[in-house]
Amino acid sequence: NNIVIAIDGFSSCGKSTMAKELAKKLGYIYIDSGAMYRAVTLFCIQNGLVTNGVIDEDRLKDEMRNIKIEFRINSEGRPETYLNDKNVEQEIRSMQVSNLVSPVSAIGFVREAMTRLQQDMGRRKGIVMDGRDIGTTVFPNAELKIFVTASSDTRAKRRLEEMLRKGQTATYDEVLKNVEERDYIDQHRTVSPLRKADDAILLDNSHMTLEQQDQWLYNEYLK
Ligand code: C5P
Repeated sequence: NNIVIAIDGFSSCGKSTMAKELAKKLGYIYIDSGAMYRAVTLFCIQNGLVTNGVIDEDRLKDEMRNIKIEFRINSEGRPETYLNDKNVEQEIRSMQVSNLVSPVSAIGFVREAMTRLQQDMGRRKGIVMDGRDIGTTVFPNAELKIFVTASSDTRAKRRLEEMLRKGQTATYDEVLKNVEERDYIDQHRTVSPLRKADDAILLDNSHMTLEQQDQWLYNEYLK
């Protein structure tokens, strides 16, 4: 059966960590919906669809049919993002992509295409999908919805640490600014803005360690 678990929330609050943990424990497939919006954004950058931070929406609309996004499982069993048959897992996490992804995600036809793709992926067996609108728009009937949040300072510190660990360069101020800007755009766009679904469970993990978060998950849902 295809049970869907939706994990939504603000940028860099540990949604993916939680979603991966749940998927592993339950034997479900983990799907990172943000990676799909990041891949569209990378396509725009690589194909000259961005001028001074402005996206050429008319051209992007024509190009949508040339954008193929997939997840393939690597040798360690982890899913990686592919854009037109090329592994872009690293590239889509760059600051350049992060700085453009929210405006790209606010475009209606981009959301329609990604939502359709996400719903198709959900026809497989059990999935855990993380994002911004999974519980509100993509899978409004998801069996379990969790909405995660944390203070922007905590989130910026976590994101910076992760980027530095992966050998990427960034400063705290730059990451904090990006996190806050994305949250603002994500909450104020007209098409499926970021908000908690009425039936989602709220988790603020500002003061939780990973172990405490796992314990919370376990106590609430995995018993
Ligand atoms: O999850 P992640 O931070 O990688 O997502 C990157 C961006 O993609 C978000 O800031 C948001 O603008 C967009 N996004 C979205 N809807 C989703 C997932 C991500 O609009 N379901």
